[in-house]
Amino acid sequence: MMYDDRTFRLRMGEMTEREFLEAAKEREIAHWRERNRFCGRCGAEMAAHADPAERARVCPSCGFAAYPAIAPAVIALVERDGRILLQRNAHYRHANWSLVAGFVDVGESFEDAMRREIREEASIEVGNLRYAGSQPWPFPSSIMVAFTAEWASGELRPDGEEVIESGWFAPDALPAIPPPGSIARRMIDEFIASRRRL
Ligand SMILES: [Zn+2]
Repeated sequence: MMYDDRTFRLRMGEMTEREFLEAAKEREIAHWRERNRFCGRCGAEMAAHADPAERARVCPSCGFAAYPAIAPAVIALVERDGRILLQRNAHYRHANWSLVAGFVDVGESFEDAMRREIREEASIEVGNLRYAGSQPWPFPSSIMVAFTAEWASGELRPDGEEVIESGWFAPDALPAIPPPGSIARRMIDEFIASRRRL
């Protein structure tokens, strides 16, 4: 049985990493099958690849093959003088604050996408962008590519559309943050732990 998005998000924190990765893969494959019932090139009904080991839907009419596609998204923990940037997103149903994140556009590097998202959503510039890990994000078929960054210039000005509120938060005065299970939460937890060691 597959969980719906909401249930999956709630259960994520209870899963081991291996359980999460398996469940995420199952969701992404189911979504890919559902989106590729008909050929995107000629409209004929797609069929399974002749080789069951090959994860592809193939068009019997024109030969087009559709493989699962992943849409990368970038996410950053931005630090300024021991405090981190958190914001509330207009599209989230829950009231949690989270990190700056967004999809990578065509033709962009991860780093360019990260700087653009931070500029668009928070109106600041950052430096020292460093890779901080990744996590498959099956809502429905993405992967979060995580960075840490340091504030360089500008003052927070939420765009008012995607982001309705933002601020710099000290580790001992955080608002409601994402539940365990997401890479956002892991980065926030790691930041808190690193400050405790100082
Ligand atoms: Zn076709």
